[in-house]
Amino acid sequence: MSERYYSLNTYFKGLYGKKVRKICVDAGFTCPNRDGKLSQKGCIFCDEKGSGADDIFRKLPVWEQVSKYIESKAKDNEYYLVYFQPFTNTYAGIEILDTIYKSVFLDERIIGISIGTRPDCLDEEKLMLIAEISGGKEVWLELGLQSSNDATLERINRGHSRKDFEKAVIASDKAGIKVCAHVILGLPGESSEDYANTADFISALPVKGVKIHHLYIAKNTELEKLYAGEEISLITKDAYIQEAANFLERIRPDIIIHRLMGDCRKERLIAPDWTLQKSEIVRNINKELAGRHSWQGKKAHQIIVPRGTI
Ligand code: SF4
Repeated sequence: MSERYYSLNTYFKGLYGKKVRKICVDAGFTCPNRDGKLSQKGCIFCDEKGSGADDIFRKLPVWEQVSKYIESKAKDNEYYLVYFQPFTNTYAGIEILDTIYKSVFLDERIIGISIGTRPDCLDEEKLMLIAEISGGKEVWLELGLQSSNDATLERINRGHSRKDFEKAVIASDKAGIKVCAHVILGLPGESSEDYANTADFISALPVKGVKIHHLYIAKNTELEKLYAGEEISLITKDAYIQEAANFLERIRPDIIIHRLMGDCRKERLIAPDWTLQKSEIVRNINKELAGRHSWQGKKAHQIIVPRGTI
């Protein structure tokens, strides 16, 4: 069955003719939502690793983390994108960011970088640096939104508003930087209407990519406590498949879908169990769209996009 959405693999294959894998690195940053600047609690779904992947050579300098990956896992028929994943990867002075970002280009198979950050941790100087690197390289700015509903953002202790996200996307687009928005379906208190509003909000902005996650409970998070106290319930597998398909239908067809489900290792996962069935669920979301004779963007509301770059 052909894909009913515009996947990141399709985008990369079309552009580079090869598979592009991500190398996740931890640059040792922290986050204003954890170090006390905004809060010490963090987002309720975030653990002490700053929502990062587990398979990172964490204690090494970034260039060494990349080097170790290249030595042990890289293949000649693939390209690589270095992903600055855990915590807030623009939360440092400009000289430090400059050195760290540029240090990873140590092999010709590394075609670019992807920088995960918060919408309130960007300024003109940082955007100019990222834009400079993106001249000739594949560069993505991954911005956490999670929901476009300010009440939800407050409930999950994000420490920023939907307006902050909107401003960051427009400023990044003006600088010529591609933004990938991160979204979670199943957040406490949210309904189908909230997911639709978030999809419409994203589609109306000059966003170039989206990562869709389901809500899961990881160990050592605020969510774990709420879940143990039965203060929240989780979206079911079937509902997630439906909602992810609904969400895709409202997302502009040119937006690249970087991810359709969250990832959590078994050892860190509290619930739901179906988090570990990623491939099957991604297949079922596509199948759901096919069953509806539908596709990404079928119901996208073409509201005004602030800048004509899409
Ligand atoms: S912004 Fe990111 S790193 Fe900071 S608390 Fe939230 S999820 Fe964790």
